[in-house]
Amino acid sequence: MKRFSCGDVVPNCKARFDAATEADLLAQVANHARNDHGMTSLPDSLVQEVKRHIIDYDGSNG
Ligand SMILES: [Zn+2]
Repeated sequence: MKRFSCGDVVPNCKARFDAATEADLLAQVANHARNDHGMTSLPDSLVQEVKRHIIDYDGSNG
């Protein structure tokens, strides 16, 4: 599993995402960015920032 916490990139955002793959995770983040942050697309620099904060998550805790 992959996990990303939006608050690592966007201060004060509490959204957190889990997905089986990085691609699925990025799709969820793109949706969230559009719906909750008003971003129609993710700039490449932001995608790189998101990728830097993706962690491996084994599903056993938190
Ligand atoms: Zn967010």
